[in-house]
Amino acid sequence: MLNLVIFGPPGAGKGTQSDKLIAKYQLCHLSTGDMFRLHIKNDTALGLKVKQILADGMLVPDSITIEMLEEEVQKNPEAKGYIFDGFPRTVPQAEALDAFLAGKGQKIDLVLQLDVDQEAIEKRIAKRQEESGRPDDSADKLLKRIDEYFSKTIHVLPYYEGQGKVTKVNGIGEIETIFTNICAAIDAV
Ligand code: ADP
Repeated sequence: MLNLVIFGPPGAGKGTQSDKLIAKYQLCHLSTGDMFRLHIKNDTALGLKVKQILADGMLVPDSITIEMLEEEVQKNPEAKGYIFDGFPRTVPQAEALDAFLAGKGQKIDLVLQLDVDQEAIEKRIAKRQEESGRPDDSADKLLKRIDEYFSKTIHVLPYYEGQGKVTKVNGIGEIETIFTNICAAIDAV
């Protein structure tokens, strides 16, 4: 069992690197952003509830997010491990995840921190918006997401540093180089 958290600001490359990790380590990829977008696309009750929150670049309340994430883990019991992408984004989410995994006799093994400066993030997301058209990639909504990251999400790092689980990887450079460095961190666990 290998449970990873992939951590970093919006546009750090969490999704890109997660796709490569799934292929190599056969892990189950759990992206809360993707889950919310699917709910919105399918017009579910949850989707209707969170649509405006995502469009505004704000964080969805912890209770909703935690419940959705735990359900998704339960749906994939045979997984060799999980990549948590975009979750936890607050300390209460991190605490809830620890308690939930402990109840299953599991734990987080590694937190990969993708280190990217704000200038690079803004450039990447401007490019992504041209391609994907994600409404929350617009300049003002991106600033809100970056603000949410530095005011709330960043506190998740000291939480895991206290557990000695964080490895920092430079998120700037070639995708393959970053991936090689991530794999080295995983293989060192
Ligand atoms: P990015 O990492 O590019 O900001 P995500 O796809 O991870 O994008 O998340 C998109 C949006 O989904 C967030 O801005 C937020 O509104 C919501 N979201 C995703 N994960 C969480 C979470 N763990 N807690 C609260 N809101 C979340």
